[in-house]
Amino acid sequence: MESILIDPDSVHDEFIDPDTANKMNMPFDVPGIRAEMERMLSIPKCRDFVKRLLAEVSKAAPVNKLVAGGDVLKVFDMIMAQEMELPKLVRACDFDNGADKTLNLNLAIGSIAGKDARIQVGSCRPGKSVTREELKAAYLKSDARMCLHETIHHCGEHVYTDEQLARTVFLMNASSDALPVPTKPNQDMRTAYSQYWDAVLKKSYK
Ligand SMILES: [Zn+2]
Repeated sequence: MESILIDPDSVHDEFIDPDTANKMNMPFDVPGIRAEMERMLSIPKCRDFVKRLLAEVSKAAPVNKLVAGGDVLKVFDMIMAQEMELPKLVRACDFDNGADKTLNLNLAIGSIAGKDARIQVGSCRPGKSVTREELKAAYLKSDARMCLHETIHHCGEHVYTDEQLARTVFLMNASSDALPVPTKPNQDMRTAYSQYWDAVLKKSYK
């Protein structure tokens, strides 16, 4: 499968249109992403929700131990400190750098237990044409949000799944919505479960 991403250095437009912006393989600003995650986690509502979510999900899955006591920033640092050939953060569709071929956008790949924990992050699409600086800022914000979500998955030694996290959020009464239910046999429910608990996470830092 060939990558459809564009090298950001090949784009010289003063204003970058949403389609081009969405296809650019923007480099990750790791310190910036970490600082933004730290900012989000310093919001009491976000910090308390994430803390409780991880305490409850690990209680429900005792064989899948909590990493670093559920300290999300520490887990992010652990992911970034692993020694491996592939980049720890990879843009969706960047197949040369080990992006997932199933075309999922945001993913927790591997695990802390396997010493191969990685995070795949989808592209962002601005609502209008933007300058390079505006695009960088938009990517930083969206990358940090995705990294927060995916690092929460990696807080389980063997990854907490979207279904586990969604069920936990439901049992915590943290969402006013009903849990998504499959409408046909063998339906892949990952996206539905992911959106379910991510909606509550998003609300906690907005
Ligand atoms: Zn997820």
